[in-house]
Amino acid sequence: MKLLATQESNFIDCGSDDQVLRIAAHPKGGPERLWFDVSFECDPGPQTIGCELHYVDSTLDYVPGNVYPVFQIDDAPWQRAARAVERLHADGRVVLHWEIPRPRHHGRVALCFPYGEQMIAHWAERTSFEVSQIGVTSLGRTLRRYANYVGEIDASTPGVYITARQHSGEVPGSWVLEGIIEAMSPRQPGDPMIWVVPFVDLDGVATGRYGKAHWPFDINRAWYRAGTSHEVVACRADAERWSKRCRPRLYLDLHAPRLTDPDVFFLYSSEEPNPSALQFMELCRGTLGDRCHERFIRRGNHYFALAEELQMHPGSVADEYFEKTYGIAAVTLETSYQEIAGKPADVDAYREVGRRVAAAIRHFCSAE
Ligand SMILES: [Zn+2]
Repeated sequence: MKLLATQESNFIDCGSDDQVLRIAAHPKGGPERLWFDVSFECDPGPQTIGCELHYVDSTLDYVPGNVYPVFQIDDAPWQRAARAVERLHADGRVVLHWEIPRPRHHGRVALCFPYGEQMIAHWAERTSFEVSQIGVTSLGRTLRRYANYVGEIDASTPGVYITARQHSGEVPGSWVLEGIIEAMSPRQPGDPMIWVVPFVDLDGVATGRYGKAHWPFDINRAWYRAGTSHEVVACRADAERWSKRCRPRLYLDLHAPRLTDPDVFFLYSSEEPNPSALQFMELCRGTLGDRCHERFIRRGNHYFALAEELQMHPGSVADEYFEKTYGIAAVTLETSYQEIAGKPADVDAYREVGRRVAAAIRHFCSAE
């Protein structure tokens, strides 16, 4: 088996051979690992290939649970693998094992369905959102924002600002976003003005990094500090333009949680969610139904503690920045890499979460 390192890939080869793909997620210079994505070429052999994910217990906050990696065989559509089985070494180290069919020529294995910038090419055909270039990333890539319309100065239309991939490996956020955008297209009378930055950490998306707590700054811990992440500088300037062309109503930030967390849930970083944020989250609980995690609304204690430890300013998380700056409902939605409503999630399950969140957005913005 020949493992192919591409710009977007993320893996460490832990001794693969013709029968078994042995890989680990690559930290790419950051303190946390989780995202993996590996392409390979293979010769004819047994019908299946074994896959092993190594160093599992040092991925982000690992807890045992259901893991269903995804794979692509030759050029067929992506699929979920059967549940990966945990194998323990005698000393307690954890390896996850699963099998996939052997491709004729090449295959690809990843934590979850990959979603890079090229995936967005079809948005222009399937949605009515228009694209604008709003600035650049730290490494000079062009940051883009999509809008259902750009409004006009001092308009009173409710406004929604959405970001995804502040942590570049959190692909479920992109699939959920796709569902939101499609459900909000074409624009209907009474719809809010919606602006979307689909890839905040575009450098990380393009280079296959996971991006959580990445050095020198986790982008989603840098919103109130001057001189930290240039992506934040560009997004804050865009949010200012947005705020002058609508009546700011809602900020939504799309993420993915730990490796084995199922379903969908909200994390908030302030002491208490504000009443309008709570109102929006409860509307989502209604539209999401059985897709909700049993702890659907929870405080992100771990991340809050981390920010305090690093002596970051309150509001360094994007939702808190939007809440404090614009006095609006500002929420963070986490969607599982693995399963939703008791089933391994396919891409349509993610899009369906997005469609249901879109229904809650419409309701929330028309409820005043
Ligand atoms: Zn995240």
